Amino acid sequence: MSDCLFCKILAQEIPANIIYEDDKIIAFDDIQPQAPHHKLIIPRKHIATLNELTPEDIYLTGHLLYVAQQLAKKLGTADTGYRVVMNCNQDAGQAVYHIHLHLLGGRKLSWPPG
Ligand code: 5GP
Ligand code: ZN
Repeated sequence: MSDCLFCKILAQEIPANIIYEDDKIIAFDDIQPQAPHHKLIIPRKHIATLNELTPEDIYLTGHLLYVAQQLAKKLGTADTGYRVVMNCNQDAGQAVYHIHLHLLGGRKLSWPPG
């Protein structure tokens, strides 16, 4: 998608601090971190929101979660705790319409979220 910010990061048209990549997924630092560790984990495939997910994407979403777990371990926050979040549409505050998991950790996170 030519007008998608995260597709532009994938195409290296916009820089990002990429901390993980494989043939299906990349992960990078959020530009406006909300916690000491705030990473974004995204599929290379452009999927606008969770609502557009299809059965063929089921393995991909598990892959996103597994990368989140691996990064949490690498960052040293797996045992202390972390949160993964995927916002869907306006009421959830989705700003970039290319699905992404937020990985947040490194501080005590309050619940419920705002
Ligand atoms: P959303 O609100 O869609 O769930 O999350 C979008 C996230 O993308 C936000 O946390 C925001 O800080 C992050 N973000 C927006 N623009 C950029 C950018 O150009 N680079 C990076 N690395 N993150 C961005
Ligand atoms: Zn995209």
